Order: sequence, then structure tokens, then C-alpha cells
Amino acid sequence: MIIKNVSLETVCGISSSIPDNDKPEIAFAGKSNVGKSSLINSLINRKSLARTSSQPGKTQTINYYNINDMLYFVDLPGYGYAKTSETIREQWGMMVERYLMNSKQLKVIFLLVDIRHEPSLNDKNMYDWIVYHGFMPVIIATKLDKIKRSQVAKHIKMIKESLGATSETKIFPFSSLTKQGKDEIWAYIETVCEL
Ligand code: GDP
Repeated sequence: MIIKNVSLETVCGISSSIPDNDKPEIAFAGKSNVGKSSLINSLINRKSLARTSSQPGKTQTINYYNINDMLYFVDLPGYGYAKTSETIREQWGMMVERYLMNSKQLKVIFLLVDIRHEPSLNDKNMYDWIVYHGFMPVIIATKLDKIKRSQVAKHIKMIKESLGATSETKIFPFSSLTKQGKDEIWAYIETVCEL
């Protein structure tokens, strides 16, 4: 995909309604600090359009990035930050639930996990929640540059097993430092959005 123009078109807070978009949506979910902003910025060739988590767990918005007037990247708020209050956690749940239930254009949800670590209970819950709403999560294993090449297959197996992923579940290893995985992720997005 040649990125011609990208803009942050809609920011949904707790009280705003989900926009009724007429273009395909690709959503990104993951715990705070997993590398979600870095992934989105890499995919759209920008240094810092997607926010990075200076205050992890505090930004409770759903951000819609319009890409070339062809599709939307939907940046869901991060989860799992230890110091998040119960109120924030509840708001997070309501917002994400509303998104999963109401988006008519959602084509795929990328669930980001750190390739180094076993997914947390929050990650597993998110995975199950996506499945519950009738979507097939696609996993992006971030920070690929942090492990040795010889360890990649083992870590991918561990992540899939611990999330309870099926044999068909797609998993893309990715590094925002080396951009490894970027072309594969874009090819997949283009296929599911029929671009
Ligand atoms: P977010 O909270 O999920 O949006 O995470 P960020 O994109 O802000 O990344 C959190 C931290 O991880 C930052 O310090 C990033 O520089 C770092 N990071 C993100 N992706 C990668 C990666 O692929 N490789 C490495 N080595 N660091 C990364």
C-alpha cells in the first residue's frame, strides 16, 4: 500500500457513539506498551501520528485513522496497566464492547502480544472476547528484534498455545525497529479489505 494521506479522523471517548463508517476497518488491540503505536506508525510510514503511551492506561479513546480514504485503522485503548483504576477499567470494557458490537465494517482485529513473553490473562481474555463476538483474532507478535532468530518458532508456538489459538490462527512476527513483518501484514490487510 502506498500511503498518500493519513489523518486522525475520529476520536471516540466514553460518551461518543461509534462512527458509521462506510470503509473497511482494521482494529488493533493489546496491552499498554506492547508496541501498538509503533506498529501503527510503521504501517503508515509516520514517526508519531499514533500516540505513544507516555501515560499508559490513561488514554481511553478509540482513534480512527483514515488511510488514503480507503480504509480505517482503529486503535483500541490499551489494557493491563497495573495502576489503572477500576473506573477506567470499566470504561475500557464498555468502550471496547460497544465497538465490537456496533462496528459494521470491522474486517479483522489484530491482537498484539510481546513475542518474548507468555501472553497474560488479560491477553487471553481479549482473545476469547474477540472470538465471542464472532471475529477471528489475528496475532501480531511484537518486538521481534528482541529475540534470537533461532528462538522465533518456539516463541510463536508458546504464544499460540497459551492463547488457545486454533491451527488456522494467523500470527505475524513484527519489529518496528527493523520493519520485519510489515509487508506481510499489509498484504494480509489488503486481502481482507479486498483492496
Ligand atoms: P503502545 O503502548 O502499545 O502503543 O506501545 P509503544 O508503541 O508506545 O511502545 C512501547 C515501548 O516499546 C516503546 O519504548 C517502544 O520504543 C518500544 N517498542 C515498540 N515496538 C518495538 C519493537 O518492535 N522493538 C523494540 N526493540 N522496541 C519496541
